[in-house]
Amino acid sequence: MLNKKSIDDLQVKGKRVLVRCDFNVPLQDGAITDENRITAALPTIKKLVEDGGKIILCSHMGKPKGEPKPELSLAPVAKRLSQLLGKEVVFAKDDTVVGENAKKAVASMQDGDVILLENTRYRKEETKNEEAFSKELASLADVFVNDAFGSSHRAHCSTVGVTEFVKESAVGYLMEKEIEFLGNAVNNPQHPFVAILGGSKVSDKINVINNLLEKVDTLIIGGGMAYTFAVAKGGKVGDSLLEADKVDYAKEMMEKAEKKGVKLLLPVDTVITKEFKNDTEFKTVSALEIPDGWMGLDIGEKSREQFTDAIKSAKTVIWNGPMGVFEFENFAAGTKAVAQAMADIDATTIIGGGDSAAAVNQLGFGEKMTHISTGGGASLEFLEGKDLPGVVAVQDK
Ligand code: AMP
Repeated sequence: MLNKKSIDDLQVKGKRVLVRCDFNVPLQDGAITDENRITAALPTIKKLVEDGGKIILCSHMGKPKGEPKPELSLAPVAKRLSQLLGKEVVFAKDDTVVGENAKKAVASMQDGDVILLENTRYRKEETKNEEAFSKELASLADVFVNDAFGSSHRAHCSTVGVTEFVKESAVGYLMEKEIEFLGNAVNNPQHPFVAILGGSKVSDKINVINNLLEKVDTLIIGGGMAYTFAVAKGGKVGDSLLEADKVDYAKEMMEKAEKKGVKLLLPVDTVITKEFKNDTEFKTVSALEIPDGWMGLDIGEKSREQFTDAIKSAKTVIWNGPMGVFEFENFAAGTKAVAQAMADIDATTIIGGGDSAAAVNQLGFGEKMTHISTGGGASLEFLEGKDLPGVVAVQDK
């Protein structure tokens, strides 16, 4: 159980409540292309509105690097949020985030009103967790609520610094839900417990692999990171992604798996090509025998079958990272197979954010999963067994 104050423990009537959300959504030509992070924030916002608080929302979007960048404004989020809430969300347009305009907007709020501040990363202090901006944010509010799971692995002004300068702080419903699902899956899983890791780099997931080997019955590794393991097994990977300086680590992890009695499943075959694009010649070969001049961009059919079988027998499955370059249709079969296998089973199925969440939603399997995390980096750090600074900073119950 999370020992942090929750929004159910607050009395917000008439109070100004600053809520850190994760509205870092993908935009294309000003249009939001995936609104899951916005819909995930609704329960907290609705609850605080119902309780009669004055709700001041804030978030970052992208990396404006400490200055106003109109293409990374949160204005489109305010518009969409108004539609989803069925109530106006005033956008407090302000290049300094907490400038005159934002202060005026806050001063004129009635109970139950909602406003959204501008992108917190327009301020260079934000990512450095500098006191001045934390104090400015805190000056707008009586209470701070952190509901931004996807940003809670970062100690920034709007996730950590601000908590020092408000009277009260709590976590929101999304934060509670993420921690409950991810925490239960990892620390209290029903067995067999299978974890699937993919994506491009071993180096990003070193601590995740290490930590999960303590907990799982089966660890499946696919995607670009599998080729470093193939080399550790004495294989040839041609021009595939390889982190030569992580080969020894891969060997160490294979030994650890054996010692712990964890089944480590690596691809046995792989789909290779000469060029990094969709429309090109491709064929399937043994994962340990990729010729020079060719690179593996997906797991092969036998691997898909083996991975699917392992997933089928599981009671808990966690997945983070695609099995191949799923952005190219010709190399998406491995990622689709894993998503399909997880959608088909009667088990606790958790998607650890990022690309795998996008893939599952695009394939229309979203509803079939027990939980799809809104945080990529944050869920990885959680899976590493780390405490998230944005959660630690909130007041205990
Ligand atoms: P990550 O950000 O580490 O989760 O990696 C996701 C990216 O890994 C996706 O954009 C995939 O296209 C890429 N990826 C997965 N498998 C491979 C591969 N075999 N070769 C190159 N890139 C890959």
